Amino acid sequence: MTEPAYNLETGACPDLSGMTIDEMETFFHSMGQEKYRAAQVMRWIHQGLAVSYDPMTNLSKKLREELASTAGIGRPTVIETLESKDGVKKFLFGLVDGSKIESVYIPNEDHDTLCVSTQVGCAMGCKICRTAEMGFVRNLTSGEIVGQLLELRRQVPGSSITNVVFMGMGEPLANFDNTVRAINIMTNPNGPQISWRRLTVSTSGLAPRIIEFGKTVRIKLAISLNAVTDETRSLIMPINTKYPLGELIEALRHYPLPKRDRITIEYVLIKGFNDSDADARRLVKLLNPIRAKVNLIPFNDELSTEFKTPEPERVAAFQDILMSKSLIAIIRKSRGRDILAACGQLASENRRAC
Ligand code: SF4
Repeated sequence: MTEPAYNLETGACPDLSGMTIDEMETFFHSMGQEKYRAAQVMRWIHQGLAVSYDPMTNLSKKLREELASTAGIGRPTVIETLESKDGVKKFLFGLVDGSKIESVYIPNEDHDTLCVSTQVGCAMGCKICRTAEMGFVRNLTSGEIVGQLLELRRQVPGSSITNVVFMGMGEPLANFDNTVRAINIMTNPNGPQISWRRLTVSTSGLAPRIIEFGKTVRIKLAISLNAVTDETRSLIMPINTKYPLGELIEALRHYPLPKRDRITIEYVLIKGFNDSDADARRLVKLLNPIRAKVNLIPFNDELSTEFKTPEPERVAAFQDILMSKSLIAIIRKSRGRDILAACGQLASENRRAC
């Protein structure tokens, strides 16, 4: 990793919540402290959800005072919470520089999922995503990424967030170092203890970064594919003009996929655009070289004048073609639609309010 963890406000005061265990050990070493202090403090921050040094009673008062004058424990502030009819909650967070981001909490029967943001806005310009309307503002620090999880655990007592998906605002692989750092923190035994099997990073298709990412961290990968020809994909995902489908599939073919694992292909079905039988057959062919499973997501047209939701029968017919060729294909309902918490709906309302 190249960038050090940092605090945006001062540029000098380190944010301990965004440090990996190695960085934390280096930090305590520089203070003349023993290595084990790093694990102790990390557990207080990520498991005890401490936002100050006061509760850290296994540290001497002198050390706590020294820490308070040396380093911060960053945490985004909840500005607004919206709850959907289906139990999904959307959190609007304020950051130290006044930027705002959103995270989505999705309760399930046996586990809860948190969808985190990695950037303020996004530069990728996908036409089916409202975050794109914001443009790119800045990358989140690792502390701001992990902080969404920590603050959610505080805000929703009794929640059991075991799954984290990097599918909120931003392109995670365009904020490579901080996304990697956040994953290392989340999966550390002294950190929030999320299993790598329950972490998914979704990318719009930054092909050269995909293999590098797979070599750097162990994690589940999802690709926002959404079309099966370069012509159609470039219309809705401008990144395709830089890294066309052939290059993307080649990168996926070389992704170091753990045994028995599959790459998740996200495919938003848009009426009359990418939902024909021929599209389904092309998708099967396109995915032939990789171990994949497909999530089919009917486009939500409530906020679009350009694209429409396909009929349920069309979605089912598309799925049938994939399954008839032994491709795992699941139709996903968008949850949290009434509060604009579904995929691709984050942040634009907030932007207008700024
Ligand atoms: S879909 Fe993802 S990558 Fe595309 S603009 Fe939206 S946030 Fe960015």
